[in-house]
Amino acid sequence: MTDAGWMRQAIALAVAEKGRDPANTPIAALVVRDGEIVGQGVNRTAECCDATAHAEIEALRHAGAAAGEMRIEGATLYSTLQPCGMCTFASIWAGIGRIVFGARREDVHEMYFEDRHLSTLDFIADAYKDDIALHGGVLAQECAQLYFRPGDDVPEKMQAND
Ligand SMILES: [Zn+2]
Repeated sequence: MTDAGWMRQAIALAVAEKGRDPANTPIAALVVRDGEIVGQGVNRTAECCDATAHAEIEALRHAGAAAGEMRIEGATLYSTLQPCGMCTFASIWAGIGRIVFGARREDVHEMYFEDRHLSTLDFIADAYKDDIALHGGVLAQECAQLYFRPGDDVPEKMQAND
């Protein structure tokens, strides 16, 4: 299947588990190896009161449990939204070879990303270029429709990074 095909499955998972309301953070991730989904997850930070329960971390946890080891060598991680630094580093530790994401930072509201002058993803893409490849913008607009958009007036208390 193509990257777009897997991304469509990730979008379907996000919508099935969390609906289409951006307030419910419908972010989903898949771990795919040898043409099969070996792990999947959606964002559960609010439900689990757990800042690490990002969709990508959930997917890596499931993939590791299914594989019986923490490393899922050579797998691809698909995420509907550009992954944060925590999830990108976790992917490196898990042996993920490639991350493909949908909506990019510029496609969504600034609340989704830490507001720093240096992008974590740019740093990792450069410093770890021999370990992991990063590819964004696959079905970017379809993915971005699940999230608050750049011009949206998002109430302060709903902004996770403030
Ligand atoms: Zn994350």
